[in-house]
Amino acid sequence: MLDKKNFYINGKWIEPKNPKNIDVIDPSNEEVCAVISLGSKQDIDLAVSSAKKAFSTWGFSQKEERIKLLEKLYELYKKRWSDIAKAITLEMGAPKDFSTKLQAGTGASHIKSFIRYLKNFEFEKPLGEHAPNQRILYEPKGVCALITPWNWPMNQVCLKVIPAIASGCTMVLKPSELAPLSSIILAELIDEAKFPPGVFNLVNGDGATTGDALTSHPDVNMISFTGSTRAGALISKNAANDFKRVSLELGGKGANIIFKDADPEAVERGALRCFRNSGQSCNAPTRMLVEKSIYNEAVQRLKKYADEFKVDNPNKEGEHIGPVISETQFNKIQKLIQKGIEEGAKLVSGGPGKPSGLEKGYYVKPTVFVDVKNNMEIAKTEIFGPVLSVIPFETEEEAINIANDTPYGLTNYIQTKDAEKVKRVARKLRSGMVDVNGAGIAVDAPFGGYKHSGIGREAGQEGLSEFLEVKSVGGWN
Ligand code: NAD
Repeated sequence: MLDKKNFYINGKWIEPKNPKNIDVIDPSNEEVCAVISLGSKQDIDLAVSSAKKAFSTWGFSQKEERIKLLEKLYELYKKRWSDIAKAITLEMGAPKDFSTKLQAGTGASHIKSFIRYLKNFEFEKPLGEHAPNQRILYEPKGVCALITPWNWPMNQVCLKVIPAIASGCTMVLKPSELAPLSSIILAELIDEAKFPPGVFNLVNGDGATTGDALTSHPDVNMISFTGSTRAGALISKNAANDFKRVSLELGGKGANIIFKDADPEAVERGALRCFRNSGQSCNAPTRMLVEKSIYNEAVQRLKKYADEFKVDNPNKEGEHIGPVISETQFNKIQKLIQKGIEEGAKLVSGGPGKPSGLEKGYYVKPTVFVDVKNNMEIAKTEIFGPVLSVIPFETEEEAINIANDTPYGLTNYIQTKDAEKVKRVARKLRSGMVDVNGAGIAVDAPFGGYKHSGIGREAGQEGLSEFLEVKSVGGWN
């Protein structure tokens, strides 16, 4: 069992001020795999004051210095890649291959991508040729509170930590208490790369105490949060008291519109995107909208695909899914599956209970409901498990209305060979992202949502800009 009780504050691993330990559970076998400590208000005060002090110099550092340190970090990340992947498998149950290629891989991609954007970014520029005396300065926002969830731990941490560093901000990271181990490795790498003390601080902890102390701290200038809409709303209330900037990446209930002229394999591709990572992705296409004339065929294909879809131990190699993160999430998913049955949706694959042979661990059966109505609970709630709701539609307009009839607006999906239809529908979907025919959203394309899916954008140029203030200076020359 790993002992990971210390916090990284002001360039040192230090003991918590008021030790309060919790176990980290390996979701593949329900056993304790590590112990961490939950940070108290005193720990947060110390971390924020170290970040504030560091900002007085790091906030004015040259971008060349930041590029050099980030390049060093990228090299170190590549060396510890397999440790990071193993930690993610242990803490949240992502299968070995998926963890290596995608979970750990996205972290590396974001570091590389932000280095590129930083190199090309002009922190000072004239307003334009018409106003040579007017200068626009882009400056770091200040001390940032970075709070992340457990479902894509390194992806989400790197989407925040790296642009914060690149822009000249200092920070306190509070990763999910359920999946803190990969973040601890990142802190080790930041230490090894020799970033100035206080630029990056890590305090583990829960939402109610540690997260609350961090987001209500008066010396925090910006909060970047990924997680539930519930916590997003609470954090925004804390931020309102002293006008902190808030960037929120919340949930989703993506629609995948399959028109009759779509590539037939779009059906399986859609189910895979829903089940992948055990359904624990905010951008998962969890509502599949299928045009009536191909509906029966699509349902048959989905049943076959889901019946054969493999769930297994994450420590095994291969293309299966592992468990979900926790008993709480397992129970939430089971309740929603039961609710779908009670509401009259037709269950064609999966259902309640664990897959046979996987009774220990939080494993969920890949589940497909068909004949779902968009006002049923399973179509409205973000289930965060491998559960697909299939809804028939007749016209393009109806499909767009169903897709938009949700409080969320993160990623929607379109499947058709008709290029004009793609453009028409993509323009009408109320979401931050639209993925067409499995093309995928680029690693540096703006990532974020409309409506209850959040505020702001992560990744690439937009993700860097989130951490910057803009200053206009008249009379520069
Ligand atoms: P959560 O929002 O409670 O936790 C995510 C992070 O926020 C954790 O680090 C947690 O400690 C912190 N947090 C929680 N409450 C806080 C508060 N009041 N102040 C500051 N920080 C706080 O998410 P969860 O309970 O682990 O998952 C519940 C649901 O949230 C899931 O079923 C899913 O629907 C959704 N979720 C979405 C994402 C996403 O990527 N958008 C990620 C995880 C969970």
